[in-house]
Amino acid sequence: MTCKYRTPDDIFQCTMCGQCCNGFGGTYVTPEDMARISTYIQADPDEFIRRFCDMTGAGPVLTQGPDERCIFFDKEMQCTIHPVKPRMCRAWPFLKTVVTHPENWEAMASACPGMVPSVPREDLVRIVADHIRERGF
Ligand code: SF4
Ligand code: SF4
Repeated sequence: MTCKYRTPDDIFQCTMCGQCCNGFGGTYVTPEDMARISTYIQADPDEFIRRFCDMTGAGPVLTQGPDERCIFFDKEMQCTIHPVKPRMCRAWPFLKTVVTHPENWEAMASACPGMVPSVPREDLVRIVADHIRERGF
């Protein structure tokens, strides 16, 4: 029998719904993210933190705009910092946590319509782990 799930595209196709850019507290930014985004938007790194981040116990997260979406979300363009968006946004949904806890995939899929639910665990872990290895993070 041919395996139904072989590649990342078999288990995830972004619908561009923008749902993952909605709400507060989800998008953590690393020091590398901050440096890349600051350069891209031509802001001083301190200014970037002051204007675009909120501090949480686990580190800085991107702040919300008046529409309660990520401050960098735009209805027409979607992500206005797409080429330098945070590592977390670039990695989604192929996260290390899925390799160690594949059950997380179902919870994530309930909020992200691009993710295929109920992928057999063995296929899921293999595809995600391979993709992370190829991508390098
Ligand atoms: S929630 Fe999922 S499908 Fe929607 S934009 Fe985000 S990654 Fe794409
Ligand atoms: S940085 Fe871009 S992709 Fe990430 S949450 Fe904000 S608008 Fe969405």
